[in-house]
Amino acid sequence: MDYKEIKELDEKYYFNTFGSRLPVAFEWGEGSTLYDSQGQKYMDFVAGIAVNTLGYNHPALKEAIAKQVEKLLHCSNLFYIESQAQLAKTLVENSCGDKVFLCNSGAEANEGAIKLARKYFYAKNLYKYEIITTLNSFHGRTMATLAATGQEKYQKPFEPLPTGFVHVPFNDIEAVEKAVSYKTCAVMVEPIQGEGGVIPATAQYMKALRKLCDDKGILLIFDEVQTGIGRTGKLFGYEHYDVEPDIFTLAKGLGGGVPIGAVVAKDFVASAMEPGDHGSTFGGNPLACSAALAVLSSVLKEGFLENVKAVGEYFKNQLLELKEKFPFIREVRGKGLMLGLELEDTISGKEIVLDMLNKGFIINCTGNNTLRFVPPLIIEKEDIDALVENLKNSLVKESSNA
Ligand SMILES: *Cc1c(COP(=O)(O)O)cnc(C)c1O
Repeated sequence: MDYKEIKELDEKYYFNTFGSRLPVAFEWGEGSTLYDSQGQKYMDFVAGIAVNTLGYNHPALKEAIAKQVEKLLHCSNLFYIESQAQLAKTLVENSCGDKVFLCNSGAEANEGAIKLARKYFYAKNLYKYEIITTLNSFHGRTMATLAATGQEKYQKPFEPLPTGFVHVPFNDIEAVEKAVSYKTCAVMVEPIQGEGGVIPATAQYMKALRKLCDDKGILLIFDEVQTGIGRTGKLFGYEHYDVEPDIFTLAKGLGGGVPIGAVVAKDFVASAMEPGDHGSTFGGNPLACSAALAVLSSVLKEGFLENVKAVGEYFKNQLLELKEKFPFIREVRGKGLMLGLELEDTISGKEIVLDMLNKGFIINCTGNNTLRFVPPLIIEKEDIDALVENLKNSLVKESSNA
């Protein structure tokens, strides 16, 4: 089918929640390259929004999925599941967590984290339920995670939202201190705000959050849905800060494209969940867990994360060079292969995304006019050179139109 026919079907039959989408329908991919139905080639710097960790058609991931498909797709959590137990073990052995719960998306993982934080205090007979989150954060679109998300534009039409969330400015420890009350059960932040425009937490902030939570006896939750699974050059974003959360959540990159989410927690918190408290029909199903195991096995191979770090630094330096050339670039931010380039409002990030797409490069614009780069973690330096060269031309073109 040609993209125009697909578009027609979409407009006729699908909820219009994504407005006018970008004018391409991809058919297949290989490595970091995607192809559309016309055979047109695209270098992918979005990776399904930080999802396709190993790019497309990755042999080990494909093989793991195919093998599982032949054996068993689903069997219910009424039974013990080998790949689920193995995945939980792998996540625990490579993180600060002790116990894992598996689900199907980022929002669902955060719902699990929110429920766990409340249950932890309920089990102690303490009525603490309020969670402090930050402005500009993104935690998902279910009712509770929407309430947690510090962006009014997403919330307004769906009120009343679940109560028990307060929002404070990001990277502002005093604001958190002021917001803590007898009702507070947790603080939840993204180590790098993703949808908010690729804004990293500062080291002081993360350290101060940990200390504050310890002093007040409240839980620290990191939403690592976007930063997890090697995205930042370390397996988890928190590793950059030398600070351990009590609970953290994963999703996007975990299954390499197969939907899966995870709540990981320290034992003292996780043990608050009792039979019947939480569950999921699909969560931790054999197919998704086999995919995640294959992704983790690649990401944990010697040299993989070092490469993400090196390629990410190379990329960031190239973007910083662009910033030297173009005064309308406000800032270049991020870690590993989660990078953002913020533009002055006079330059349309959206137009640059379209212009780059025409040239065969997939990028994305998020937050307040920030170009976001979250390519497959297997992206190579030559791909980055090609992107930067073309981005330079797009920036010149757009700035002359401005
Ligand atoms: C994408 C994202 C979510 C929501 O994940 P879904 O799978 O879309 O529900 C939550 N938190 C962060 C930090 C995200 O980037």
